[in-house]
Amino acid sequence: MSRKPLVVGNWKMNGSRAANAVLLAGLKEAGPWAAEVAVCVPFPYIAETALALTGLSVAYGSQDCSAHESGAYTGEVSSAMLADLGCRYAIVGHSERRAYHHESDQLVADKAKAALAHGVTPIVCVGETLAEREAGQAETVVRRQLAAVVHTLTHCIGEIVLAYEPVWAIGTGRTATPADAQAIHAVLRMQLHAATKKGDAIRILYGGSVKPDNAAELFAQADIDGGLIGGASLKAADFAAICAAANRRAAS
Ligand code: PEP
Repeated sequence: MSRKPLVVGNWKMNGSRAANAVLLAGLKEAGPWAAEVAVCVPFPYIAETALALTGLSVAYGSQDCSAHESGAYTGEVSSAMLADLGCRYAIVGHSERRAYHHESDQLVADKAKAALAHGVTPIVCVGETLAEREAGQAETVVRRQLAAVVHTLTHCIGEIVLAYEPVWAIGTGRTATPADAQAIHAVLRMQLHAATKKGDAIRILYGGSVKPDNAAELFAQADIDGGLIGGASLKAADFAAICAAANRRAAS
């Protein structure tokens, strides 16, 4: 089964209109790529990012979305609004939201459902903490997080992108070894297989301190279909190099 590699930049709460213009111009110069490439930017910058990417094959999206349709939810952004702005993707369940905003597995699943209802593809993040890994619970935790999404989306589960992001590897400079990452990806792939006949077609990204010098080895693993990139997505040259590493997988 050939899955088109996908590399997604997660800018987190970084950027300014001026800095974004430089970064996006850098990407414009570096592309195009055989892999699919997207940037998930802070809400206020979505519209301007859309304009800057006009005519390019780089997609864009958000870093979260509301589980609600519309109404009295001050500060939230609905997936209908994201669709209105042309977003292809919305990250949901990033570990920073699970940790700092106490998002439960079920809330993450509800957000994924809301995104899909408006044609926005959720990039569902799962991952264990260091304590959970050291306690031998990595598989149990990611399987539990994915199970909520499988249960909620039922026959639509084939429409998601999944991202395995071990919490201890995010922004720390510590990366899972390619073999360790592949082992969890294989577990997640089996779980998707059990849930849907389309399990083989679902892309599973790896995220956690992916850099130009480790991307190729990670992307060479059988079940790693690209990356969710935080820090390194803020430098056009680094992000472009990671996209090029995914290009090689696309070509192989
Ligand atoms: C992320 O925030 O999704 C991430 C993977 O961050 P970093 O690449 O900086 O570890």
